[in-house]
Order: sequence, then C-alpha cells, then structure tokens
Amino acid sequence: MNYLKMSKVRHVLGISGGKDSAALAIYMKNTYPDLDIEYYTSDTGKELDETYKLIDNLEVYLGKKIIRLAGAENSPELPFDHFLKMYGGFLPSSNSRWCTKKLKLDPFEKFVGNDPVISYVGIRGDEDREGYISKKNNIQSIFPFRRNIWSEDVISKVLSNNNINKVIEIFNTLEENEKSIRFNEVLLTPLSLSYGLHQKLNQLLDLSVKDFNKIVFTFIQSTEYPLAKESSFPLVDNDDVLIRSDIFRILETSGVGVPEYYKEVEFEVNGKKGTYARSRSGCFFCFYQQKIEWVWLYEQHRELFLKAMEYERDGYTWIQDEPLSELIKPERIQRIKEDYIKRTLKKNKSQSHYLLDILADAEGEGCASCFI
Ligand code: SF4
Repeated sequence: MNYLKMSKVRHVLGISGGKDSAALAIYMKNTYPDLDIEYYTSDTGKELDETYKLIDNLEVYLGKKIIRLAGAENSPELPFDHFLKMYGGFLPSSNSRWCTKKLKLDPFEKFVGNDPVISYVGIRGDEDREGYISKKNNIQSIFPFRRNIWSEDVISKVLSNNNINKVIEIFNTLEENEKSIRFNEVLLTPLSLSYGLHQKLNQLLDLSVKDFNKIVFTFIQSTEYPLAKESSFPLVDNDDVLIRSDIFRILETSGVGVPEYYKEVEFEVNGKKGTYARSRSGCFFCFYQQKIEWVWLYEQHRELFLKAMEYERDGYTWIQDEPLSELIKPERIQRIKEDYIKRTLKKNKSQSHYLLDILADAEGEGCASCFI
C-alpha cells in the first residue's frame, strides 16, 4: 500500500481582497465544486471598507467561511500597528517590505503548518509575473487562470535536459493524436542558449495544454511535491485562460460585485477632464500606490488619508522624498492630475482605452499576497 497517497492534501486559496483572487474563488467553486478548498484572508486591519465588503459578499456566495488569519493574534493592537511599534516606527517600503512578511506570509505559513498544500493563485493569463512561491516544499502553487498552471520551479524540473528521457517515457504512455509527432520532437529538443525554457514550454502548450499537463502531473508523482500525494487532479484537463475582462465579468455576473474603489471617478483640472480610481486592494496607505491614487485617497477618503499622514513621523514617509503633507498642496495636486491626464492621453493613443489598464501599469509591482 502506498501510504504517501493516503496523506490528506489541503487545497487553499488566499483572498487578498483584490479582484483576481475573488474571481478565482468564484471560478474554482463553479468549475471544481468537488475540490474541498479552504479559503483564507490575511487581515492587516488597514484595508479599505470596500475590501471587507467584498470578502463578506464572497463568503455569502461561496457558502463557506473565509478563514481570517492575522499576524500578532494576541496583541491588543491591529496587526499592522503591532508590528510597526516593534519596528520602532520604521514604515515599510518596497525595499523593506516587512509588512508582507509579518502580516501575510508568516500567518499563511503558520496556517498550513507542515501539511501538504496546493495553493491556488489568481495570476491572470494576461499577466507576466510569477507570484509568491513558497520556499517551503510542502506548499505547491497552481495558477488556474493561466495557460501554464504550473509554477516556474516545476517547469524547470520537468523540462530540464536531464529529464528528457523520463519525460519521453511518460509521453509514450499517452494516447496518440495528430500532434504527437511534433510534440515528441519538441520534447526531445534540448534547452540551449538559443532555445530557452519558455520557448520550449510555449511550443508544448501551443500543441496541447492537456497533454502537457498530463506529463507534468505524472512526472510530479515521483517527486516530493504535494501533488505527488494525489492520484488525480482535475486541473490537468483545464485549458482555460482568463484575462482582466473575464475577471470583471465573473465578479459582476456572480453578484459578488466589483469593489467600489475600482470605479472611475471624474475630476477636472484647468478645464481638462480626467478620471481616477484605485488600482488594487491592500492597505489604504500602501507605498505601492501611484501618486494619482494618493490624490484619489485624499479626495475620496479624506479620513484615511489623514490617518496615513499620522504614520509619517521621525523622518519616515510613505513616498520616498515626499511627505504626504507636501503632496496635498494645491499646486502639487494640480500637477499630479495634469501629469496623469497627459500620461493617460499618451497611453490611449498607443494602447488601451481603459483607465484600469493605465492604472494597472503598476499592478505587476508589489506583492502577490496583497494585490492579486
Ligand atoms: S498592502 Fe502594501 S502596505 Fe499593506 S501589507 Fe501589502 S505591501 Fe504592505
């Protein structure tokens, strides 16, 4: 008897409060109702009300509790404030992101412990980023919205030149079809300086996502990855690719709704009209937000902006070299808005007409745990 196969693998999905992870939860419930997924969220205590509302709506839709994880559980203070005190008022920044570690990653790793875990991550098919991959080898990430559902480390192993024979052996057990000859050729082609990993991966996926997934899943059976403990995995047959417009559609048609802060608000500056919104979930004072988003916060959620200002002391600021008290000077706000309109117009000429695409320029930056 294979005792390994008997260990229970946990399936988990983190809800950041952003649109993509919310849509992923809805998608997984509808597409794979038999997967027993544990939904969780890591609360910093500093999200916008719209984010908490999204999580409540989602909980109703899923018909399942979304487990609230928090760093510093026993502290009388909100998690962010607890750790800020511990760090002596040193505000986090993109170079020193203690907040993500203390408020998101550590509580998550504590939550899963040493159990074998499949973690579903909502990176979309139109994004070019990897997301959080745990260093702990009991946690395996899967990306259902992408054509390639596997994480980079898995792909590197499967397609490594050392494993070509093993992979061909697995491939030979699959049913033949009209693409088999070409598939075999691509599998046999070794990686080299002129033939990279992603090129090979994309060629295989172009030929057949499902065959590629079957090979990877079978390969994984002889490894230590959590999926080795499962005798089947329904996402092997998944060749869906979901992009930004699909995410909005899923949120709207499910009735869960798109968080209010994504909705465009009009503004006028020197006779010119523009629209602004917030591009992501996360703490209201997040240092990843763009200057136009800070202006949005100042004008649309004044009380939160003032709270963010209160955190700036002893020379620590959210934006390098620009305290928030400077950013809200009327001439500075005017400048930020004008620059933003200019950028929007430029972008509109070259690419997308959607404000969200422009704001989302910076979406790829930052932490997957907070914004997906
Ligand atoms: S949203 Fe921003 S400030 Fe909050 S935990 Fe994430 S990275 Fe840190």
